[in-house]
Amino acid sequence: MESFDYIVIGGGSGGSAVAGRLAVDGTRRVCLIEAGGRNDNVLIKTPGFMPFIRNSSNYKYETVPQKGLNGRIGYQPRGKGLGGSSAINAMVYIRGNRWDYDNWAAMGCSGWKYDDVLPYFRRSESNERGADDFHGDGGPLFVSDQGSPNPTSHAFVESAESLQLRTNRDFNGDNQEGFGIYQVTQRNGERWSAARAYVEPIRDQGNFTIRTKTLVERLVVEGGKVTGVMVRRGKGSEMIYARRGVILSAGAFNSPQILMLSGIGPAEHLKERGIKVVLDRPEVGANLQDHIDYVSGWQTESDVPIGGTLKGTLKMAGAIFEHRRKRTGAMTTCYAEAGGFWKVMDDAPAPDVQWHFVPAVLEDHGRENVKGYGFSLHACVLRPESRGTVRLGTTDPAAAPVIDPNFLDDERDLAVLRAGVRLSHRIAEAPPLHVYGPTDRHPVDLNDDAALDEMIRNRADTVYHPVGTCRMGGDENAVVDPTLKVRGVDGLWIADASVMPKIVSGNTNAPSIMIGERCADFIKAAE
Ligand SMILES: Cc1cc2nc3c(=O)[nH]c(=O)nc-3n(C[C@H](O)[C@H](O)[C@H](O)COP(=O)(O)OP(=O)(O)OC[C@H]3O[C@@H](n4cnc5c(N)ncnc54)[C@H](O)[C@@H]3O)c2cc1C
Repeated sequence: MESFDYIVIGGGSGGSAVAGRLAVDGTRRVCLIEAGGRNDNVLIKTPGFMPFIRNSSNYKYETVPQKGLNGRIGYQPRGKGLGGSSAINAMVYIRGNRWDYDNWAAMGCSGWKYDDVLPYFRRSESNERGADDFHGDGGPLFVSDQGSPNPTSHAFVESAESLQLRTNRDFNGDNQEGFGIYQVTQRNGERWSAARAYVEPIRDQGNFTIRTKTLVERLVVEGGKVTGVMVRRGKGSEMIYARRGVILSAGAFNSPQILMLSGIGPAEHLKERGIKVVLDRPEVGANLQDHIDYVSGWQTESDVPIGGTLKGTLKMAGAIFEHRRKRTGAMTTCYAEAGGFWKVMDDAPAPDVQWHFVPAVLEDHGRENVKGYGFSLHACVLRPESRGTVRLGTTDPAAAPVIDPNFLDDERDLAVLRAGVRLSHRIAEAPPLHVYGPTDRHPVDLNDDAALDEMIRNRADTVYHPVGTCRMGGDENAVVDPTLKVRGVDGLWIADASVMPKIVSGNTNAPSIMIGERCADFIKAAE
């Protein structure tokens, strides 16, 4: 029987950070259990290979048909293997807005104001621009300026500026608002996943055990305390013991799934699935929030953008050669190279739409091969009002959970997205981008609300930021308390995107890592 002080379930953004921080000083025996593999291949490490990452590194989940999306089924990629979603994401480094964390505190999460979380963002970070009041230069997570953004990405920023939309060089500094080139989680031209930051450097330490290709089936709860986990490796199941506790970091879909498989969740739903109720927690799997996103697209006459043509492929072959030799050039692209944050509603407390500019034509999450050249502009709703759920379809831990983001259920989200898409078009039509000769791939009368809404419902989907399904809060109904401890059971913490009570106004990797950093400190403080 194997036994450790702590078991961390899931080696993604939150899990890598919490496992690394607990293990690094050598005083605790820590086991990190990850369903996927090591993810140390060239497709993961080379940013520009992102569209070619193997199926074994992505769960490729789908949603149930979405009423708000005219009955369409949404796509929900999720990373599998060390690094989790940080091993397959677009590497954009964004923390959210000061308002988000001050609001979490106002919602009852004491100790989570912006000024409380900023030290953890700084502690995690090693920014190539160096340290200042907002940034760190000594942390394990490397953050870089992009090596060679496409000229159209710069043109996008200039187009925004020509409309009096200010340029912002640091979205994670004192003001998030504006447009600019994103900083990325890369080091020396390679992807810097959370696992490369926190797990790889200590993988040979004697007190740290990493079990990849090992699926956690459920938690073992004895006398109100979590004492270990049942895992599946190959065909058989076995128990691994945790003397001091278990940290659940399986992400916004799989953390509530594992809790429910362990009998912790909404009692009625568990009974329907024939699972013995250990703890009735109605909010497990509730409160699912995600950034609903619309991608406008333009075909260009110019061959400056990244293109799916013979010439484009030859250019890429040259770029691969350069990257193998020097780790520089076009293969350092994160695709979502530029973007910005702006208020489209006058009464918004902070920017309510985020843009991602991609110097390539993007259709159906990149799953459709498009010939020719062009650029795409994502606009997403930063603080959606719609709320969805994660439920169990079956009791098989290897099966996908039932995901219902309930996109655009709340009409307010549609109004924000409509305004965001309109601004996307104004930016694309401004002179600096217009010189590339763009033709709208999805023309619609932008002045006609009904036509635009229909287009949005026919084409919008996630920009990959599901959160909130194991909500943190000061109230009794919250799944975890503000020290990330699961209420109603001992020896169990959650450290991943699922604990966010409200989605942050930006990409969710850095916030998930910050949550992992904090969880390690809460656990140490409780020892
Ligand atoms: C395509 C894509 C692009 C994105 N782009 C960006 C971006 O540019 N910038 C940004 O900030 N964010 C981005 N995100 C979002 C960001 O990466 C995630 O929000 C973040 O990584 C979530 O961290 P997490 O710890 O909650 O979960 P994850 O990182 O998803 O980790 C969960 C881990 O748990 C493991 N696991 C699950 N179930 C089990 C089980 N039963 N047993 C064992 N292990 C299990 C999984 O295999 C996985 O490794 C993107 C996400 C995707 C999918």
